[in-house]
Amino acid sequence: MSTVEEIPATVARLRETFRTGTTKSLDWRLTQLRGLRAMLTEQADEFAAALHSDLGKSRAEVDRTELGFVVNEIDHTLAHLAGWLEPQPAAVPDSLPGASAWTVYDPLGVVLVIAPWNYPVQLLMAPLAGALASGNCAVVKPSELAPATSAAIAKHLPGYVQGVAVVEGAIPETTALLEQRFDHIFYTGNGVVGRIVMTAAAKHLTPVALELGGKSPVFVDGDVDPVEVAKRIVAGKFLNAGQTCVAPDYVLTDPATARALEQALPQALRDLFGEDPATSTEYGRIVNHRHFDRLTGLLGAGRTVVGGQHDRDSKYIAPTVLAGVRAEDPVMAEEIFGPILPIVEVADLDAAIEFITGRGKPLALYAFTKSDRTRERLQQETSSGALSFELTVSHLRVSDLPFGGVGESGMGRYHGLYSIETFSHRKAVLRG
Ligand code: NAD
Repeated sequence: MSTVEEIPATVARLRETFRTGTTKSLDWRLTQLRGLRAMLTEQADEFAAALHSDLGKSRAEVDRTELGFVVNEIDHTLAHLAGWLEPQPAAVPDSLPGASAWTVYDPLGVVLVIAPWNYPVQLLMAPLAGALASGNCAVVKPSELAPATSAAIAKHLPGYVQGVAVVEGAIPETTALLEQRFDHIFYTGNGVVGRIVMTAAAKHLTPVALELGGKSPVFVDGDVDPVEVAKRIVAGKFLNAGQTCVAPDYVLTDPATARALEQALPQALRDLFGEDPATSTEYGRIVNHRHFDRLTGLLGAGRTVVGGQHDRDSKYIAPTVLAGVRAEDPVMAEEIFGPILPIVEVADLDAAIEFITGRGKPLALYAFTKSDRTRERLQQETSSGALSFELTVSHLRVSDLPFGGVGESGMGRYHGLYSIETFSHRKAVLRG
């Protein structure tokens, strides 16, 4: 653990470690990944308690979306890393007779991972696994808004992995870190800070990955079963009380389907959280009062179909569905990042595509339809970090799929082999 004053020495120490070359061997990389995995399993109870204290996360949710998620990502990497690191042959032109060419992945050096508060284990450990698997040293900066989790990371990580330093803190610490020269900066969070990170990185020509957010729409076609669709929307939207970067932000659908969903969504919520979500152990809380006040300020739009109850002391906001919301309503201005689901009515698919493409490119676009033609059109005519049909929030569990944004939702990608691409330099080698 380092304070602001110790940051230059901490980075210098990691740079020294990298220079020895030890981090490059496959053996070192596998050892660190196994260490990270051991920490997540041996200290699971402590991490679960911290996540409950910071965000009211249930143990089942912790096991699935935080600890288990990273363990799966590590297992996938452990199984494939040696193969991924094999040199890749490249074809040589006839004008270079007898020559051969290939590419190898070179580690970058010392990388910085800045994590947010909403999945404070997953969004720090999954990039870190990629950085270590690529043979780098890393400084990790957990979010100060999840203080118990940040403390647990600082306590345990150094005992399980080498080549890693934890810097806890907020803006002063992050600002001091950003003054240092890193070989890559991997930032997850909002676009305002994303711009600060990219500006600081430019000074040292440091490459960045920016994993940002945005309003991820759900298009619902008129030909679907509203009961099943409601179940799948609710499962993604209200996970972690809506504080998920790829959460469905709002529903876009025609008026008749909107009516059907207004009927089906309250029942889907009851099935998931019971009659009173405030008493459900499966339902989380808002991270702090600032976000609580921001979210309750958005509740006025449209008609409240279900929810709307809130309690500032316990930072509880009931899962809420708002119908008849207009594009101009404040709830449609920015990413909601909380348990409020507006339904916006559009005439048809053309209008939905126009609505989606008229705004910043989302991190995810979800669609429920039975029509191949609709799927094809959405794939062709819209741009988003990911496009997922019939499932919400599940695409990031596919380790072979890249995870990342485009345009306003970010740049760069990770998970599986894409983490190796991000945290390595693919070096060209030619032999004549
Ligand atoms: P946050 O407030 O925890 O900030 C993220 C990090 O930035 C923290 O470590 C924080 O200390 C640091 N930071 C904050 N202000 C800073 C400043 N002025 N200078 C330097 N560093 C600073 O998290 P957040 O931004 O509130 O997270 C929510 C946002 O993140 C949402 O927009 C969400 O969609 C997005 N997000 C994206 C992903 C993804 O994978 N694409 C995942 C989770 C969250």
